[in-house]
Amino acid sequence: MTKMKALVCRECGKRYPLEPLHVCEFCFGPLEVEYNYDAIGREMSRASIEAGPKSLWRYAPLLPIEKEPTVGLYAGMTPLIHAKNLGRELGLDRLYIKNDTVNHPTLSFKDRVVAVALTRAREFGFDTVACASTGNLANSVASHAAQAGLRCFVFIPSDLEAGKILGNLVYRPTVVAVEGNYDDVNRLCSEVAGEYRWAFVNINIRPYYAEGSKTLAFETAEQLGWTAPDHVVVPIASGSLLTKIRKGLMELAKLGLIDQPHTKVSGAQAAGCGPVATAFEAGRDFIKPVTPKTIAKSLAIGNPADGYYALKAVRETGGSIASVSDSEIVEGISLLARTEGIFAETAGGVTTAVLAKLARQGKIDRRELTVAYITGHGLKTQEAIAGSVGDVVRIQPSLSHFEQTLQLKRDT
Ligand SMILES: *Cc1c(COP(=O)(O)O)cnc(C)c1O
Repeated sequence: MTKMKALVCRECGKRYPLEPLHVCEFCFGPLEVEYNYDAIGREMSRASIEAGPKSLWRYAPLLPIEKEPTVGLYAGMTPLIHAKNLGRELGLDRLYIKNDTVNHPTLSFKDRVVAVALTRAREFGFDTVACASTGNLANSVASHAAQAGLRCFVFIPSDLEAGKILGNLVYRPTVVAVEGNYDDVNRLCSEVAGEYRWAFVNINIRPYYAEGSKTLAFETAEQLGWTAPDHVVVPIASGSLLTKIRKGLMELAKLGLIDQPHTKVSGAQAAGCGPVATAFEAGRDFIKPVTPKTIAKSLAIGNPADGYYALKAVRETGGSIASVSDSEIVEGISLLARTEGIFAETAGGVTTAVLAKLARQGKIDRRELTVAYITGHGLKTQEAIAGSVGDVVRIQPSLSHFEQTLQLKRDT
């Protein structure tokens, strides 16, 4: 099934075989999968996609696997919701939410990248999978490894939310909680990856893993009736998701499945970990690493691997990047829940709050067809909103106490 040609260095263009490799030996640039789009085009049409499975695998010819998918068969095809209530509040006439809080099986967008990464890892013959994670990636790798019968090690910062820690342990992987932040975890994992023949989904098989994010763009365009949005708002951790949403739209155009997109790509970060937003605001093209301090732990990468490319994508498309404080993040979670009935995790609070900010600043036009990517479920980050969502009304089990406490007047 594969239409892959090679791995190619994004900086110097040197080509490599399709193996578990991720950096160029000459210039240390990141490697990316190169496809044969002519061959893919002969195999893919709107009709063939629409006849495919109700999962991200309907776009298999544009994903970096060689045989049939074997892991994560049900990921993707999450709802694209016309967010009329939130749109009315923000003054946006055509606002949509891509709701990846209900992705299968671990309620975040990471189920997409892991489905692709573990299918590829199996093609390479790995029996052990691993990752460096800010939380959601570990949950997804652990779940898929359990289902696929693969040995699994996940590495996380030790201060993660309880829901994300339990959301690893339940699948019985080895959970390594590192006393440090994500950047420390990632550095350690790069060393481990050098010593053991394990598939680290976001290290040695990162070029394949990252491609899974394109499916968010594919689905969005299909769900909009084969058109690209005018504007998208995307959360940034490593910056990979943002760059791949743009790449996904460009690929659909290259294959003639949509018209050439003019989509503005905007990015969302937490102020407590906003190195890409800071570079954007300062007009710089390099990213200064920061030490993360934010409740948006899933986005807390102080030294983002794809930050430079995310910044470039935003600038080239005429989008913007904004950051929001922890209290704005909590308000964002609450705003999305109150208007659209969607309970998002802190990353979703970041995206919603940045969406609101850009709308207020006039950086998103009222008439633009805008899609905001809500990437993880709120039950995983309950700590963030405890204390700011009110409390229950506590009563005795009697009608009179119920009416007395709520001071209700009966209908007559
Ligand atoms: C990982 C993650 C992101 C962003 O991922 P990058 O590709 O690293 O930028 C966004 N939202 C959630 C909930 C995540 O877990």
